[in-house]
Amino acid sequence: MNDSDCVLCAGTALDGALMVEEVWRTDTWRLTTATVGELAGYSYLSPLRHVPHVTDLDGEEARSLGGVLAAATQAVKAATGADLVYVYVFGGGLDHLHMHLAPHREPGSPLQDDPIKGAKHQQTLSDGREVWVSDRYPLQDRELMRAAVEGIRARLNPTASEPERSEDLG
Ligand SMILES: [Zn+2]
Repeated sequence: MNDSDCVLCAGTALDGALMVEEVWRTDTWRLTTATVGELAGYSYLSPLRHVPHVTDLDGEEARSLGGVLAAATQAVKAATGADLVYVYVFGGGLDHLHMHLAPHREPGSPLQDDPIKGAKHQQTLSDGREVWVSDRYPLQDRELMRAAVEGIRARLNPTASEPERSEDLG
């Protein structure tokens, strides 16, 4: 089901306005590449169906994503001579899933390479280990970090017995 108000559901009709061009289409996905921008080859992989966010992926889109993502990133890398292809998924700006496939090449790349905003400094943990942390966002409470680890594990391994805890930062 498509959304008539969604610019990505319009498919190729709005590609010109969005300054992209369709370069590949499968039964469930399409890949567009920017025609204007800071980085040649910057591309967007989106489902043909109106799947709002990555957390809504299901059905054939969910099943096919691995192969489609591999093929698309390999083509972006080969065509641009990039060292790596970064994949960003945000979701706050446009309510139709689109993955940013960004060819990265050092030096002088304009890409963000860290998901945490701002400058960083080194901090010594209670056990003497040092970590780089944001100047603006302090380290989260360890119990909150642990609850997230356990919550994610429990959802993905509902019948698993208590797992061994691996050594982590603390
Ligand atoms: Zn849509």
